[in-house]
Amino acid sequence: MGTVMTGWRYWFMLDEWLYSPHPSNRGRRSEVVLWPRRDFRPSCPIHPNHVPPVDDCSCGVYFATDLADILSMATLISGGVGGMQPRSGVRLVVGQLTFKPPIIFRRNVPLYVGRSDDAVAYKLEGRAAGATIEKLWISGGQESHNWESVRTKSTAKARYRVPVVLGLPNLAAASGGASR
Ligand SMILES: [Zn+2]
Repeated sequence: MGTVMTGWRYWFMLDEWLYSPHPSNRGRRSEVVLWPRRDFRPSCPIHPNHVPPVDDCSCGVYFATDLADILSMATLISGGVGGMQPRSGVRLVVGQLTFKPPIIFRRNVPLYVGRSDDAVAYKLEGRAAGATIEKLWISGGQESHNWESVRTKSTAKARYRVPVVLGLPNLAAASGGASR
């Protein structure tokens, strides 16, 4: 069934809470999914009896194995994505996580952003049974004297109980730079 593996995700952060940028569809209603803590266990938005991930469904917690894909996406979504429009106080957050098996993989998955034709193709996308955040990078306000950024960082750190960095990661973080 595979082993726990490391991967990357991104969210929007509002009031120091992480929200998945891609709403899940429950019936006709699409809802934005809050990540309330470090560990995340997805439920199936369509079939209550599913234990995600299920092959012919969309359930599970998604990630990219390659940080470069997440950073491309982060660049692209500066204009907002899905049901969540960017507004004042919303920050983009990138995270390194470990993902619990079973994991279903797809290759070269295009993700379309909003109503534009822009897409980022994830080289390898995973859909897992669960996730644990290991480290977070919060965009915007890298200046250490920016009191709002400093407060955001300390609140997120206390809330999710992981190391938090101001500014998005560079690719070196993917090769060991993210260790604590
Ligand atoms: Zn399902």
